This record gives sequence, structure tokens and C-alpha cells, in this order.
Amino acid sequence: MITCQTLFNSASDYVESTDSSNPVVRFSLKQRISIRFHLLLCKYCRLYLKQIRLTSRTASALTVEVTPTDQEIERLVQRLKQLDD
Ligand SMILES: [Zn+2]
Repeated sequence: MITCQTLFNSASDYVESTDSSNPVVRFSLKQRISIRFHLLLCKYCRLYLKQIRLTSRTASALTVEVTPTDQEIERLVQRLKQLDD
């Protein structure tokens, strides 16, 4: 069985691998079973993983992509032209 320290070291990669459709690090079936089994028995690691997952989701929710409309771009161009005069 893996230790809390082992899980602690790979927790971020594990959360990313389970949440992302294209994870950077992939875990083998054996590794995933070991982690799951540890989580089943250890409430501290469950809490730790929950906290990482929450932090990760909050961070990605804060990323806002803004795409200007054609109208907004046109307005900006007009303002820039006015500044040039
Ligand atoms: Zn643990």
C-alpha cells in the first residue's frame, strides 16, 4: 500500500489526470488502484485531495476569456483614429 507521503507527492498530478480530458501525467491502472485504495482508508488524504480539487476548479473558474464583438472592435478603431487626428 502507498503511504500518505507518496500520495501527497503525486496528489496534484492525480487530480489533474482525473479532471482533465487531456492530462499531462497519466497513471497506470495499478497506480490508480493503489491511490483509490489508500483514499478509501485514509480520510486525511481524501480531505487533501478534495482541497486540491476545489482550488484547481476555483482557479479555472476565475479565468475569463473575453472576445470582443465586431462592433466593439470598430468602436476601438474609431477611437484610435480620433487620437491620431
Ligand atoms: Zn493518507
